[in-house]
Amino acid sequence: LGKQSRKRAVVLGGSMSGLFAARVLTEAYHTVTVVDRDELTGVSQPRRGVPQGRQVHGLLSSGHAVIEELFPGVTDEMVRAGAHIGDLAGNLRWLLNGIQLAQSHSGLTALTSSRPFLERHVRARVQALPGVEFLERTDVLRLRTSEDHRRVTGVWVAGREKGSAEQVLDADLVLDATGRGSRTPGWLMELGYPRADEEKLTIGLGYTTRHYKMRSDPFGTDTAINTMATPRNPRGAICAKVDGDRTVVTAYGTFGDHPPTDPEGFLAFIRSVSAPDIYDALQDAEPLDDPVGYRFPVNLRRRYDRLPRFPDGLLVIGDAVCSLNPSYAQGMTVAALEATTLRHHLRQGAPIDPLAYFRDLSTYAIDRAWDLMAGGDPGVDDVGPTRTERFRHAYVTRVERAATRDAEVAQAYLRVIALVEPAESLIRPSLVLRVLRNTLGAPYSSLRAHRKTLIQEGPRTS
Ligand SMILES: Cc1cc2nc3c(=O)[nH]c(=O)nc-3n(C[C@H](O)[C@H](O)[C@H](O)COP(=O)(O)OP(=O)(O)OC[C@H]3O[C@@H](n4cnc5c(N)ncnc54)[C@H](O)[C@@H]3O)c2cc1C
Repeated sequence: LGKQSRKRAVVLGGSMSGLFAARVLTEAYHTVTVVDRDELTGVSQPRRGVPQGRQVHGLLSSGHAVIEELFPGVTDEMVRAGAHIGDLAGNLRWLLNGIQLAQSHSGLTALTSSRPFLERHVRARVQALPGVEFLERTDVLRLRTSEDHRRVTGVWVAGREKGSAEQVLDADLVLDATGRGSRTPGWLMELGYPRADEEKLTIGLGYTTRHYKMRSDPFGTDTAINTMATPRNPRGAICAKVDGDRTVVTAYGTFGDHPPTDPEGFLAFIRSVSAPDIYDALQDAEPLDDPVGYRFPVNLRRRYDRLPRFPDGLLVIGDAVCSLNPSYAQGMTVAALEATTLRHHLRQGAPIDPLAYFRDLSTYAIDRAWDLMAGGDPGVDDVGPTRTERFRHAYVTRVERAATRDAEVAQAYLRVIALVEPAESLIRPSLVLRVLRNTLGAPYSSLRAHRKTLIQEGPRTS
């Protein structure tokens, strides 16, 4: 079926996943209405409906590739407007346990900007598409369905201005992109559907972010410095060039070990992370705002894909389905990959089978990110690691050590982190050999000594 028979899709939520979805829906629907409680048009500051927008937002290479495909030329546009572009393995300085990964050119893009900047550019592209309309400062209230509750036929909304009347938006498809606080689970129960299982992994993560104008340059030819948290060193910090000639600095810790939000405490936390170059550069940097914190207690995945039935005319996307440990920087990329899954189903013809859509969302957009994150966060559930998990951790630790010495291993590792390649790519025989060659002859103590030197002298910059 073409556009003739598909009249209106209503997207609930105009954040990243709502925007990606709206773009894809214009290929199949005459009108795509995006509803959000916030004012969106022209907004380039963090907004209420997306409080995480004040924190650093990295865009993984695979997500960037989808965005550029959906909005050709948007990367150039953003770089002209102040975003920074580099090579994922060549211009991002990755540190693990204080040791820098070997750098080399990978051809994978790393775009750094603030979250509101990225959203504003993507939103402007979506707003310019024919058939798209935005209903801003409007609350989504509840679904409207057929009498037998088998089909969603629209959604009730109300403007935020005082005295605004409720109105119904008729829709051939309603897509819930309202984020983690999505009300679809409650709506389903009210309509007599079973509740979707929720998978939760507790991490007790805390973020604190501050923006600076740098006076000394910690970057050299790099665009960002990323000190990743590891089981041995569970605190992390990111320092990245972003739009507006600013540098964003974020620190994070897990299981209640949260970076303080007072300036001295924040600096002291940064000092405790194995990233002396970030700490040193902050000594004479000019703060542009106060440190802002954010708590992320639990990774959450709603298993709509396992439900026996689901109403027609309703789909869910983005954080509303799965919200992932932010320190892996996967959320926007998963949302972009989900939009391509949605497009695949739209091209199969109407109506979309919701359960088939959710199963494909799991397989093609979520599983890889979720498994990578869950595998990298030992101790996140009550059950201890299995023998296979222990073996996997031991091997990944070797990969990480080898990646500090061998650029090819570093690239393979970063391709997995960036969701470009599956984790299985790390066990191809040629790579296993490289990993062993780089770690068997290097006893752990010598690596520790290497790390100590790096912490004292600062990491390599090339
Ligand atoms: C601290 C933190 C850091 C992060 N860092 C990264 C990162 O580095 N890289 C990355 O890729 N991802 C990151 N993420 C995840 C990323 O923010 C989300 O995955 C991304 O925003 C996609 O979410 P979404 O569009 O599904 O929902 P959201 O971004 O949560 O947006 C939901 C939208 O729905 C609207 N809305 C909600 N309820 C209603 C209602 N009833 N009526 C009307 N409108 C409503 C809101 O106003 C909002 O616009 C981070 C998340 C957090 C918490």
